[in-house]
Order: sequence, then structure tokens, then C-alpha cells
Amino acid sequence: MIKSVCGYCGVGCGLEFDKEKLLGDVTYPINEGKVCSKGVSELISIQTPTRLLRPHIRNDINNEYKITDWQKAIETIANRLKQTPSDKIGFYLSGQLLTEDYYIANKLCKGFLGTNNVDTNSRTCMASAVVAYKKAFGADYVPVRMDDINHSDLLILVGANTAEAHVVFHNKIKRAKKNGLKIVVIDPRFTDTAKAADLHLPIKPGGDIDFFNLLAKRIIDEDLVNHEFVKNHVNNFDLLKNKLKRVPVTKMLKRTGFSKEQFEEFWQLFKDSPNIITAWTMGLNQSVQGVDKNLSLINIHLLTGKIFKRGNGPFSLTGQPNAMGGREVGGLSTMLAVHLGFDKESIQKVSRFWNTNKIDNKPGLTATQMLEADLDVLIICHTDPVYHLPNRNKTEELLKKIPMVVEINAYENSETAPFSHIRLPAAPWGEKEGTQTNLDRTITKQEKLTRTSIDCKPDWEIFQLLAQELGYKFAFNYENPQQIFEEFQEMTKLSDHMNIHKTSYEQIKEKPYIWGEDIYEKGEFLTENKKANLFFVENKLFSEKTSKEYPFILLTGRTRDQWHSGTKTNLPKTLLKYKELNFCEINPVNALELGILDGDEIKISSKRGEIFSKALITPDIKEDTIFVPVSNRDINYLTNDLLDSESFEPDYNHSAVKIEKV
Ligand code: SF4
Repeated sequence: MIKSVCGYCGVGCGLEFDKEKLLGDVTYPINEGKVCSKGVSELISIQTPTRLLRPHIRNDINNEYKITDWQKAIETIANRLKQTPSDKIGFYLSGQLLTEDYYIANKLCKGFLGTNNVDTNSRTCMASAVVAYKKAFGADYVPVRMDDINHSDLLILVGANTAEAHVVFHNKIKRAKKNGLKIVVIDPRFTDTAKAADLHLPIKPGGDIDFFNLLAKRIIDEDLVNHEFVKNHVNNFDLLKNKLKRVPVTKMLKRTGFSKEQFEEFWQLFKDSPNIITAWTMGLNQSVQGVDKNLSLINIHLLTGKIFKRGNGPFSLTGQPNAMGGREVGGLSTMLAVHLGFDKESIQKVSRFWNTNKIDNKPGLTATQMLEADLDVLIICHTDPVYHLPNRNKTEELLKKIPMVVEINAYENSETAPFSHIRLPAAPWGEKEGTQTNLDRTITKQEKLTRTSIDCKPDWEIFQLLAQELGYKFAFNYENPQQIFEEFQEMTKLSDHMNIHKTSYEQIKEKPYIWGEDIYEKGEFLTENKKANLFFVENKLFSEKTSKEYPFILLTGRTRDQWHSGTKTNLPKTLLKYKELNFCEINPVNALELGILDGDEIKISSKRGEIFSKALITPDIKEDTIFVPVSNRDINYLTNDLLDSESFEPDYNHSAVKIEKV
């Protein structure tokens, strides 16, 4: 029996592998044996005929790929990198990578190639939460754990559909409800998550900051402020209080779409709940004001002191299995490594640690900026930017201009494959080992369950081959992921708050390790004066506006059985039968106006492109909004490419579209 961890979502469920069978691990504290449809069928993703099994090469994207060998492929990439100025190189990583893979890629790019252009697809989902946590608390630190729901009185889920995106956590929430937890879901859709709620507030898309500002104002007006906590642990209270005095309450309430009665019902619940958790995902993060939305939410917990106490706190729910590990290593271009930035002291520390003098002192390009930067070489690892970046027609045109696109992937059917020059076959989940951190700072060992397919390699080994070919064998000579993890652990000593060095690879194999519990126990924030920062933020209405021509707002989101573009889950019908993806939710009032019937073929268009889908008429979606699942591979032909100015995260959930019957 081999114990491992699921490689799909940020919950990170423990699994047991026994004689080709995969089961939930009953002894694992996070899931106690429970798994969802994705986790239990993960073995199928290893066996799918869509696996990429050999290196491929071509010198022009109009030519056919030819099979090549590793030596030739690595030499070709290294030769090109040697001739390329460092600012013309980009590494585009993924929350699907293991921590050791992230570490090697980050070290190679930032430490030795001399560019900070290494970013991850977490940019498109978690970057707003990262920036907000840093601004408010002084570091990217999640101050809540999943088990906290068992100590809480009220869980507010905002723009988070846990029933589809974090299934096992959702089932824990439902169990906590039986023991008295109240649940409020704030979402323009009456989702499966909302069905489990005590109160559903169908917010108008874009109204989140107004809602949290109204709540903050009410907390101050009715003196629900925890003055002792604010005095000792919080900066900027008077500033926020004065700013909130002048906000236009009626206008703000109108922008939320809530009636006075709905807000009052919520307020009663809030006021009567001693312990409150507010959890969120893409509904807040994927926005042109994603950071501000996060900050307005965090304000609530700082004003009431509902943080650093069991059953309380602002809880960002990470989507991918190891997006957190990437953040810890420094896989975002806006940080250097182990939560250090690009200040002189941090660069000196990291340069000494890696024994290099090549680190650049300015942040690199983000994943959302790389394609527009006229790069010469782009190395994409375990992710599919053509599918997931917004405004796809533009993405395709930009990618075509990059002279060398390298794709490291376990599957051959990505949307990026037609734009790549070299494809390297990576080992998928189950064929490699390493560590990953879930959404509540729990580090777990992912085990190799079966032999690595003959011509595939784990990602760390691929980056190491490249580093060695570039002449950096002295710094990249690891024999296994354990050695890399141990170096990373040593590096965490450079940070003043990451205690990952206090465990070991061997210990994690036996028992997951939760880092940062000392920060929680001390209850001290990580800013210079150890106090958290309140921020006054306003809804600036920056998102794309609807018009006569494009009168609907497109919402996007996960569906339970699918994962991203479906390379691992949307498999041939003989392997799996999963929920239909080809649907677009439309409110009956809008459908009637447009003469659209349930099941009709429809065309959805925006200023940028069009897709086809099937109408699913349901009152569960608010009027004048439509919903298309994010795993519909064509969805980003529609989305706008506005970015948050601080997190550079796209505004995926606010594109103006029209729908027509075809
Ligand atoms: Fe895997 Fe997430 Fe499902 Fe758990 S909830 S089995 S981690 S996909």
C-alpha cells in the first residue's frame, strides 16, 4: 500500500494506492477517506491515449512535428537560450508542478539566466489574494485552516463554488452545518453551494467592494469594532472610519443588487455570530479590482478582530494542488524566492545562497504580460496559456510571433501544442514524487505509484538537464527530489517567517507538515510594526460595461468533474463519462425575450470573438448574466483582457457578451 495525495485541487486529499486501486486515505486528517470523482479516477489520467510520450521538434509551427531524442531537444533549447538576451526569455509555470520542480525552474531562471521572467498560471487565479495578503498582513500568509469551520458560527462564501471546485471541503462544510454552522453564499448564481446555504445573496457582478464597504460602515456605525484588537494590532483605523463616513450608501446598495431587507437579514446573522470565516475564490480574485475586493473583505476581519482565533479569518481557497508551493518557493515573477522581494538585502541573501551574481533587481514579466513582451524563447510547463489566457484571438497572434516556444507537458492535446516548436514529455501525477502544499499550508508528499513511462521525465530533471547543458552543473546536480527539497528548506531560513526548515522529507512522508502555525499562535502580523493594514478601497467600475449590442455579463467557473482544459478529465468516452460541458446558463426571462428554448444551439459573442454552445435555461442564474463553464476550451475567445493593476490578474468574470439562437 502506497500513501499519496490527490493532484487535482487545493484541498489536497490523502489517497491510498493498493494493487492498481486508488482509494481515499481514512487516516489522512484532511479528507478522512473521502474523495471526489476527480481524485478517485486519477489513475485514468496516467493511462489516457492522449499522453505525450516522446520529445517532438519542428522549426516552424506550420510544419508537422517530428519525434526527436532528449539530447537533441535539450541541446536545441540550450543553444537558443545562450544566444538570447535574458530579458527575452520567459518561463511560464503551473500550480500543477511539485515544489521541487518549481524550485529548480526558479533557481535556473532568476539565479542563473539572469531574468525574473518566471511566472505561473497562479497569476490568473490567486495573484490578487497574494497581493492583498501581503499588503494587509505583510506577507502572503493564509491565517485560516479548513478545520476552522468546525469552530465557526458563520461561514460567508463569496464568489466561491465549493460544491464544484473543492468538493471534499464542501462536504466538510455540510457536516459542520449539521453541528450549527450557518452558511451565507454570495454569488450571482444559485449554485450547488448556495443550495447548502442558510442565506443566498445573488450579488450583481462587480458589487463586492460595495458590499464589504457597506458592511464595514455598519460595523463602525453600530460599534461592532473590536477596539482592543484594533488598537494593538491594526493600522489606519481612523482613516478608514473617516472615508467610510462619506460613502454613498444608497448607490452602493444598488450596485450590490440587494434589497434593504436582504442586507438586514445578512447583518443580523453577522451580528449574532461570534466566530466568522469569510472564504473566497475566483469570484473576487479574477477581477480588474481583484486586490481591492480582497482588501475590502479583509477589512471586515481586522475591524472585528475575527482573525488568529479558531473559527475566524479571511480564507482564500486556492484552486490548484500546489499553487501554494509555487508561492512559497517564489514562482511568481513579482517575488524572488521564499517570500523575499527584489530589495538589495534580499538579492544579497539569495545570491549568496545560490552562489550567483546574476540576479536582476526588478520584478519580471507576469504570465499575463509575457506574450506581449516580444520574447524570443518561452518555456511553458504543465499549463496551457492558449486555452486559459483571456482574449484568445490575441493570445494566438502573440504566441505565433515567438521564435521558440517549448512546451513541457504530460499530454499532447493542449490548445498550446499547435503553437509550440518543441514538446518535451513530462511525467504526470503518479509517475513522479515530490511535495505539494494545499490551500491551508499543509505540505504533503506525493508518491510515485507506477514506473515513469519510458521516454518521460519529471519536471525537475528536465530543468536540470537544461541547466547542465547551459554549463551550470555545479549548481544543478541533484540526484533526487529529496535533495532539492532539503535545499529549499535550507533557503526558507532566509525568510523571517517560513518555518518549513523545521521538518524533513522523511517526516513529511509519514505525516503532513503544516507550516506557519507559530505565526498563528503568536497572532502577530508580518509587517514592520507587526500590525495589519486596513485599506479604504472604492468600486471604480473599471470592468467592461454592457451595451445595447452586448447586454449580458459572462460569468465563468468550474464544474465538479472537470479540470481546467480537460486534458486529464475530458477523456474519450470509453474511459470516463463526465458531466456535459457544452452548456450556457440563461435566465428564463432573458430566454423568453430572445426566443431561446432549453437545448437550443446558441452563439455567444463579445467584441473579441464568438463561441457556440447549448442553452440551459434556469432561474439559478441572475437576469442579464450568463454562465459558461471554464472547461469549455473555447471560452477565452470571449473574455476581455483587462488586468488588475497590482496583481495583473485578468477580469475573467466580467465580459460583455450577446447571445443569439443559431
Ligand atoms: Fe482531489 Fe480536490 Fe477532489 Fe480532494 S476534493 S479528491 S483534492 S479533486
